[in-house]
Amino acid sequence: MRIILMGPPGVGKGTEAELLVKHYQIPHISTGNIFRELFKDNTTVGKIAKSYIDRGELVPDDITNEIVRHRLSQPDTEKGFLFDGYPRNIRQAEAFDQLLLERGWKLNAVINFEAPDHVIIERISGRRVCSTCGAVYHIQNKKPLKEGICDLDQGTLIQRADDMEETVQRRLRIYLDQTAPVIGYYENKGSVMHIDGRNTISHTDAVIKKALGEMN
Ligand SMILES: [Zn+2]
Repeated sequence: MRIILMGPPGVGKGTEAELLVKHYQIPHISTGNIFRELFKDNTTVGKIAKSYIDRGELVPDDITNEIVRHRLSQPDTEKGFLFDGYPRNIRQAEAFDQLLLERGWKLNAVINFEAPDHVIIERISGRRVCSTCGAVYHIQNKKPLKEGICDLDQGTLIQRADDMEETVQRRLRIYLDQTAPVIGYYENKGSVMHIDGRNTISHTDAVIKKALGEMN
């Protein structure tokens, strides 16, 4: 099973990704994780990638495509994969197509999670994180027993800079600017499965597995 999962931050695709990789026994591949591993292993490409990330810049497409090529040469991808956060622009999508072609592989599905901006903003900007243990709460959906205090260790709950409303709005805009063309690209090539990120995870999981079963 070869799947690309797309969707903005906070749309709820992470949980579904975990269910899919477990169900199909495939690796969950995100370029962010590969970069971290390559850096941990002290590789040159890992250091180069980190220098971009540290400056708050995107890693250039050539480097990203190259590490994806390397990742796909590893044996665990023989039975399939779930890509999350890649490809994030047209150049990467074209390079990825080329890679698949070289291996004689076809994608089974591109799954695009969507939700209205205000839903995503509410979800992310409502997050609070324990400054001691990192446990995650939400001011509406997962309140701590005592406001502002972690249930586990009485640590103070804080809002991460990344979760502030203005930051979320900016991340959403960047995401949509970059990825809308990629979704169009895959729509032209076949079908993109559109998933409403507001549904419950059990509903979403059932819908996706049924569609994947019928497609393949
Ligand atoms: Zn805590």
